[in-house]
Amino acid sequence: MKKQNRFVTFILSVLLALTLVLPGSAVTAKADGQGNMAVHFIDVGQGLAILVQSGGENLLYDGGNRSHADEVVQYLKNQQVETINYMISSHYDEDHLGGLVKCLDNFEVDHVLGSDYVHTSDLFNTFMNTATAHAIIVEYPSVGDTYEFGTGSFTVMAPDGISQNSNDNSVVIRLVNGNNSFMFMGDAEETSEQDMISTGMNLDCDVLSLGHHGSASSTSWDLLEAASPSWAVISCGLNNSYGHPAAETMGKLSDMDIPVFRTDDQGTVIALSDGNTISWNQEPCNDYTSGSEKQSTDSSADQSERDTNDAAATESYAAETDTSDTQGRMVWISATGSKYHSIPDCGNMNPDKAMQETESQALSQGYEACKKCW
Ligand SMILES: [Zn+2]
Ligand SMILES: [Zn+2]
Repeated sequence: MKKQNRFVTFILSVLLALTLVLPGSAVTAKADGQGNMAVHFIDVGQGLAILVQSGGENLLYDGGNRSHADEVVQYLKNQQVETINYMISSHYDEDHLGGLVKCLDNFEVDHVLGSDYVHTSDLFNTFMNTATAHAIIVEYPSVGDTYEFGTGSFTVMAPDGISQNSNDNSVVIRLVNGNNSFMFMGDAEETSEQDMISTGMNLDCDVLSLGHHGSASSTSWDLLEAASPSWAVISCGLNNSYGHPAAETMGKLSDMDIPVFRTDDQGTVIALSDGNTISWNQEPCNDYTSGSEKQSTDSSADQSERDTNDAAATESYAAETDTSDTQGRMVWISATGSKYHSIPDCGNMNPDKAMQETESQALSQGYEACKKCW
């Protein structure tokens, strides 16, 4: 019941956000320096695509791979996107750049920000040629550049120079809305993280979109300490061949008790910032299993659940609470603990953050039965 109320609250917040993007009211929201910002971590399988909407403006950070391009275009159209005020290409690897070409063709694009290096691929050439065909000049921002966006702004944190490692060339941004902040890392790895830390810039954020799909080459302890996020979001594909996210990275998040959202488990994940608080379209999955562990424990039941999640972000909520799963009885998991429970408020558990899953799922994730309530 509690969860349903939270969901209703979220829907109301989204409706409120929609009223703010109507012409006229956007100006008021901007003048206040307070307003709603919705951040959509779009499920693009193994890849990354983030849509941000605020004050009637749209920002697209990466577009997923080519095979998900149509889905990304459709997703944006469903969100009433006509103009992309800022299209940011973090770097030119296919799992980030692939979908952006179709977005250039389908939407009015005001600014394209990218990384100042040349990638040897047909896709890179196509992207640059498509931009030129639409009379768009790709801009290469510098570290520290800040852009007003919607009711907030974003600042470029990286790259501080170009390297041979295309991932470390990722344009990293810190997006701010009132007191809320998000960091989009692209595929930035440890070298870039160290560069960012050495500048002394503020890396603190509420939401960290993990670098390189949670691979072990990103998300160093130093970065996690500097960012100290309240939530982590990982965009990766189910059963991806890289084993993303890495056990090492998931262990760090678990050790730091950072709640986790991941698109391979949950489909599209949406955060809504009102400038003070951030609400989500679903609870964190807090699934700290690595991609390779997951592959060995994956069942067809998980796959069918995920297909449902793909249908629509909001519907994934219904799938999550669906008790028709025949894999076992439903148990409760707390936001951070290592035990599963028969009730959502055992001991010091916060029932608002508790989530349900089957006993077999809980066991496969390493949870043990709570001695107190079982
Ligand atoms: Zn990459
Ligand atoms: Zn990538």
